[in-house]
Amino acid sequence: MNELTLPHADAATTIFNLHDYRVLGAETLSFGQRRIHIESTVDSGCPSCGVIGTRRHSGRQQRVRDIPVAGPVEVVWAKRRLFCDESSCPRRTFSESTLEIPARSRTTSRLHGALVDAVVSFRAGSDRNSHRPWGLVVVGAKSLDLGGNETAQR
Ligand SMILES: [Zn+2]
Repeated sequence: MNELTLPHADAATTIFNLHDYRVLGAETLSFGQRRIHIESTVDSGCPSCGVIGTRRHSGRQQRVRDIPVAGPVEVVWAKRRLFCDESSCPRRTFSESTLEIPARSRTTSRLHGALVDAVVSFRAGSDRNSHRPWGLVVVGAKSLDLGGNETAQR
């Protein structure tokens, strides 16, 4: 369990290309969409004290929104809850997080970046007299927890 670094990633992980994650498996759902199962390949530090968690407390399957990879995908992260072993830390356990999927996020950073790029391109292409459906962009951003209130201000 301490062998988290992957000098040579497997083919699925290389193709999926989500930084700091490894593809555990994939399945095709009945309507043709693919479900990708992933796990983190990096250590996570306690958000209170920063000590790296090495002991697994529990785990759960967390669905994560991501960009299409050769078509739409459903991503399921085998997310671990770890013990904080720092005796003076008030936090006993914490969930792992990465730069790609920060704490409490259910969206990958690469999806967030792609949507921000799309919004910037959308706004750059609009003018004051156009009737583009800006509200749809705001609603979409809110549904992905992308700070829709901030993007709603024009
Ligand atoms: Zn701690």
